[in-house]
Amino acid sequence: MSVLEIKDLHVSVETDQGTTQILRGVNLTINEGEIHAIMGPNGSGKSTLAYTIAGHPKYHVESGTIQLDGEDVLAMTVDARARAGLFLAMQYPVEIPGVSVTNFLRTAKTAIDGTAPPIRTWIKDVRESMTRLRMDKSFAERNVNEGFSGGEKKRNEILQLELLKPKFAVLDETDSGLDVDALKIVSEGVNRAKENTGLGILLITHYTRILRYIKPDFVHVFVNGRIAEQGGPELADRLEDEGYDRYLAESNVN
Ligand code: ADP
Ligand code: MG
Ligand code: MG
Repeated sequence: MSVLEIKDLHVSVETDQGTTQILRGVNLTINEGEIHAIMGPNGSGKSTLAYTIAGHPKYHVESGTIQLDGEDVLAMTVDARARAGLFLAMQYPVEIPGVSVTNFLRTAKTAIDGTAPPIRTWIKDVRESMTRLRMDKSFAERNVNEGFSGGEKKRNEILQLELLKPKFAVLDETDSGLDVDALKIVSEGVNRAKENTGLGILLITHYTRILRYIKPDFVHVFVNGRIAEQGGPELADRLEDEGYDRYLAESNVN
């Protein structure tokens, strides 16, 4: 049984104005196969949490811990985190000029598994995955994310998720900018990964819409760098009705 544990995490970032505190004591435990939704207003630190888990060098961990099955994630390089089974689907996926989707996937898979995937099953796996995600096969030979629409970039993130088979995935606003059809396709991909591999998911979102397709086990309200409240799926419905104003008012008082 795999578990990702975040304890009392404080994170700052260096800006022109000096050091800014962004995460202020995040506590979160995700077990294998669980879906945790994090919802919160813009600028509350959701992406900072995602980047910190992935090991982005801009974010400085002041205190607290992140452990994957008891191993110290913060002591691992970015590569080691991926090999350990962590995956980040970025809010703004980056273009990689000169590297095709196929080559990128194969290189990443080889790096993560420590051995190249057997060519015939691999090609079949990639094709089947692309078909399920309704990605035209021409995408295989295109450079990663170059000229991709917003929805195509998000599908490409899920393609990576399906093929790299991580233990835990952080999906940072994977739903933003998707039309309903793309949202369904992306959500189906995420649900398949949970069913097939017991993926644990941290689903960061601004809107409740995606939670109609990906059913969270837990919902966390994220405000001002920490979790202000947690509950079950019913909490998402309440947020849809009431918004974040109540939490913002409370966090300003403190
Ligand atoms: P969210 O994803 O919830 O919208 P972010 O984590 O992107 O929030 O940002 C939280 C706060 O930290 C914002 O005020 C943002 O401007 C600041 N911040 C995040 N990353 C950086 C950075 N690399 N440099 C400067 N400020 C940053
Ligand atoms: Mg933001
Ligand atoms: Mg963000």
